Amino acid sequence: MKDKIEEIKKQAEYCLNCKNKPCKSGCPLQNNIPDFIKCIKEGNYEDAIDILNETTIFEPICGRICPQESQCQGNCVRGIKGESVHIGNLETFLGDYLLEKGKIQCNVANDNSKKIAIIGSGPSALACCYYLATRGFKVSIYEKHNKLGGLLRYGIPEFRLEKCILDKWLEKCILGPNVEVFTNIELGKDVTLEQLKIDYDKIVLATGANISNKMGIDGEELECVLGGNELLEYRKFPDFKDKKVAVIGGGNVAMDTSRTVKKLGAKNVYVVYRRAEKQMPAETKEIEAAKKEGIQFLFQTNVIKVINKNIEKSQQQIECIKTELIKKEGETREYPVNIEGSNFLMDVDYVIMAVGSGPDKKIIDKLGLETSKWGYVKVNENYQTSDEKVVAIGDLIGTKQTVAWAARSGFECAKSIVTEIN
Ligand SMILES: Cc1cc2nc3c(=O)[nH]c(=O)nc-3n(C[C@H](O)[C@H](O)[C@H](O)COP(=O)(O)OP(=O)(O)OC[C@H]3O[C@@H](n4cnc5c(N)ncnc54)[C@H](O)[C@@H]3O)c2cc1C
Ligand code: SF4
Repeated sequence: MKDKIEEIKKQAEYCLNCKNKPCKSGCPLQNNIPDFIKCIKEGNYEDAIDILNETTIFEPICGRICPQESQCQGNCVRGIKGESVHIGNLETFLGDYLLEKGKIQCNVANDNSKKIAIIGSGPSALACCYYLATRGFKVSIYEKHNKLGGLLRYGIPEFRLEKCILDKWLEKCILGPNVEVFTNIELGKDVTLEQLKIDYDKIVLATGANISNKMGIDGEELECVLGGNELLEYRKFPDFKDKKVAVIGGGNVAMDTSRTVKKLGAKNVYVVYRRAEKQMPAETKEIEAAKKEGIQFLFQTNVIKVINKNIEKSQQQIECIKTELIKKEGETREYPVNIEGSNFLMDVDYVIMAVGSGPDKKIIDKLGLETSKWGYVKVNENYQTSDEKVVAIGDLIGTKQTVAWAARSGFECAKSIVTEIN
């Protein structure tokens, strides 16, 4: 422990406490990073936590799994000539301190008699719940799974976020006298929006967007083709032992599914990505970890067909084609174009689609709310949907699909509710 504290202090000392706080601007939650780091330098961890708790309650979560290299650390002045300050490690240290010893800002027992229903229990829902419950609102969470956490539990694998940390955090920071939890209840199946509208002052929809996108290629309907999001959510894995698996995509879901499948005993796992390595949306540390674990990468490769080679022996193939990257006028990101005649076949047992995800259309259609052309629930600047009693937050409204962005929408929406209802 002494060594850990020395290491943390050393990392904090490396921070320059920049007056213009570029790291703070890079944080979706606008955490006051230089000030909390200053408190760590002084050994004053409780004050450091208080500073963070002005804008977040997700310290033990975000410290571990935020894509810091594209958020706070990506903006760190130290990173211009060398290594950025390890802000994520410092936040994790404080988060763990909060869980073990620190003051817990759990919600209080006062009651302002207003009742809010939150549907879903991912980071957007939990941020909203925390903010409202600490201000005396009675919050009821309705969740279709049997435990809380959303993709923190039913998406991000254990090897990146231990569920015992999530459980402890929920217990100490989120649950309290003003929060009532109904698990195994699915909106649209076990309860309707109309019923909830009678019982509550406001309904907050936070059901996420975890339905895997399709590529629209031939053979996609074959049984060997699986959705990466659903695979990680429901963990109903086929027997991957000694199998060859191709994972299509280059983001978080591609990294998490490929590493999970490899850990489940697959012999060869290939990540097939149509752009170059430097354009992968996944974080560098995840790509490096995947490479170390033996996952093979095929960059600038597009999959154009899944072929059932031998139904009886369940042998499949994917037809791939190489791509070249071209600059399109007015666009900063290079675009992949198939190179004619560069097609090749690969033998695989399973193909996993990890090419993005969207909301559950079946449920959204039942709710009768206005949606965008991509299927996200439409909201105004106060997260108000086309129904005046219903607000929506998180991935469901098309936020940037990270935990911190989802949490930000939850906090902001809660503030709007407080202003409107009080
Ligand atoms: C595999 C994977 C890895 C990821 N890794 C990272 C990462 O490292 N860092 C990062 O910042 N982001 C990561 N993300 C993205 C991040 O997890 C999401 O952006 C975030 O969880 C969205 O939060 P949310 O509250 O909008 O929804 P979700 O977390 O998706 O939660 C939605 C909740 O609603 C529930 N629900 C859905 N429909 C109903 C219904 N009809 N009735 C009741 N309940 C319902 C679901 O069960 C779920 O609990 C990852 C995503 C995935 C899929
Ligand atoms: S930009 Fe980097 S060095 Fe400057 S205050 Fe933020 S963390 Fe410290």
